[in-house]
Amino acid sequence: MKVSLIGVGQAGGNVTERLARFDADMGFGAVQGALAVNSAEADLQSLQFVDTQLIGADRVNGHGVGADNELGTEVMQSDIQQVLNSLDGRVSSKSEAIFVVAGLGGGTGSGGAPVLVHHLQQIYDVPVYALGVLPGRNEGALYQANAGRSLKTLLREADSTLLIDNDSWHEQGESVEGAFDTINEKIAKRVGLLFASGEAVEGVGESVVDSSEVINTLRAGGVAALGYATEIASEDSSENITTTMTVSRQALLTGTSLPDATEADSALLVIAGDPDAIPRKGVEKARHWLEDETGSMQVRGGDFPLDSDRLGALVLLGGAERSDRIQRFMDRAREAKKEQETESTDHAEQLTDDRLENLF
Ligand code: GDP
Repeated sequence: MKVSLIGVGQAGGNVTERLARFDADMGFGAVQGALAVNSAEADLQSLQFVDTQLIGADRVNGHGVGADNELGTEVMQSDIQQVLNSLDGRVSSKSEAIFVVAGLGGGTGSGGAPVLVHHLQQIYDVPVYALGVLPGRNEGALYQANAGRSLKTLLREADSTLLIDNDSWHEQGESVEGAFDTINEKIAKRVGLLFASGEAVEGVGESVVDSSEVINTLRAGGVAALGYATEIASEDSSENITTTMTVSRQALLTGTSLPDATEADSALLVIAGDPDAIPRKGVEKARHWLEDETGSMQVRGGDFPLDSDRLGALVLLGGAERSDRIQRFMDRAREAKKEQETESTDHAEQLTDDRLENLF
């Protein structure tokens, strides 16, 4: 799937840069263009592989908006034309989708990404998706409340919102901050492979996945989640039937970007590996298992031929917002908002800020 990426804020820029680099290193050619937008100049300066656009210079002079996501919204709104102009040539006629990437707990990305998605939807015919990073459980109340508010708007504006929980892909014992590098690398690999599905195809066959299957899976809207797992493959494909089931199970049950998200409106199962090692029977079995597990009648599937001694399963879920994890996150966001209200003495602000009350 040919994509254009726009990262907003620090997490958005870092993840976008990683994605662009992974795609280039692997020679997939799925990423058509990548732009990082931020109100903090220093964060943009640390990026090397993407183009950059500073916003809000007249308001915050390149120093960022802190974790004030309302200010993040305002600076994106004021400078939206500049951002859209910078996209010239980065969203090409070949782009099949646009992804706006952001950490939802901070300021610039949290407040700015929904505004940007809204404007992109007016201009481009291709789907506009959000790739949102949820704050970990131990991040402060302000981050939870910001993320709740940002997610609510993204769900309304984006064609689908792929969520990555910052608690899900870091090693045990690592603090979330210390783990950003690890998490970003994992996001780049998994999401990068999803983009590349239908791109790096050698020996095109009927069973090979193509971009329309990704787009059709995301058509369910709402929240999307992505899971991934791999195992060493045997040279004999019949021995790989069990391996295909194992990696598919692991991808959904333990390797997902949103822990516990298994119920979904739609799903896509991509089996990656050497075409000779991929067992048709195993793929069919895994697809049926995925239908049972997600409760969805819309489970698509396909192969991703790769020169590798491993078999990998990539599971994309669409319409996964009924998951326990999302419900727990929303409870946390509501709780955080209440805490903020108790602390706040500014009644006018409370009145304008009751958007979390009816999240779902
Ligand atoms: P902004 O620059 O104002 O948009 O704020 P950030 O991007 O720093 O957003 C804060 C949220 O993103 C917090 O939940 C952080 O844990 C998370 N975050 C910040 N940088 C990164 C990163 O490089 N990777 C990941 N996975 N999360 C990040």
